[in-house]
Amino acid sequence: MKTKLILIAAGLILLISVSFYLQSAHLDPVEQARQNPVEQARQSTAEQARQNTAEQVDSNKTIQKKGVKMKFKVVKSEEEWKKELTPEQFHVLREKGTERPFTGKYYKLNENGTYVCAACGNELFKSDTKFDSGCGWPSYFKPISDSAVVYQRDTSYGMVRTEVLCAKCGSHLGHVFDDGPDPTGLRYCINSVALGFERADSVKEGK
Ligand SMILES: [Zn+2]
Repeated sequence: MKTKLILIAAGLILLISVSFYLQSAHLDPVEQARQNPVEQARQSTAEQARQNTAEQVDSNKTIQKKGVKMKFKVVKSEEEWKKELTPEQFHVLREKGTERPFTGKYYKLNENGTYVCAACGNELFKSDTKFDSGCGWPSYFKPISDSAVVYQRDTSYGMVRTEVLCAKCGSHLGHVFDDGPDPTGLRYCINSVALGFERADSVKEGK
C-alpha cells in the first residue's frame, strides 16, 4: 500500500516536471518572438544571413534571385517609382534615406485616422498607437497588423538596427527599437515622408 502511494506520487511529480519542461522549452521562445518583432527580425535576419552566405558561394546570379526573395504584391522598377514619387519620397522609400528630425509633417499630428504607405497606400499604423517619443519622427508602438510590415536587419552607419519595410511594396519606412512604451515596449520610428494619412472622419477622395 505504501509503495503504491509512493509510486503514484513519483508519477505525478514526473508528469508535472515534464509539462513544465515542455512549456519552457517549447512555448516560450515562440511566444517571445511573436511579441517582440525586434527579436523576431534578429532571428529571421540571422537565418537569412546564413542562407545568403551559402548562396554567395554559389554564384552572383543566385544572389540576384535572392534579392527578390521577399515577395511583394506591388512590384515596380525604380524608374517607375521615380516617376510616381517626389524626389524626397523616392530618396527615403526607395533609397532608404532618412528625413531630418523634427521636420516631417506627421511628427506632431494628433488626429484620428490611419497612416498608410506613401508609395502603395498599404495601411500601416493607427493614430491611437502613435506617441510622442521626442525623437523627431512619428513614433508608434505597433503596426496596424502583423502582416502590414516586414523587418530586415540593417547594419549601415556602424549600427545594428531593425529596418521596417512596407509588406506590400517593400519600401523603406524607418526602424523599430525596443525602447518604446507599454503595451509592446517597441518604438516604430517612421519617416513622415514615407507616410500618407487618412482621417477617420473624411470620405476618401474620388469616391
Ligand atoms: Zn507600400
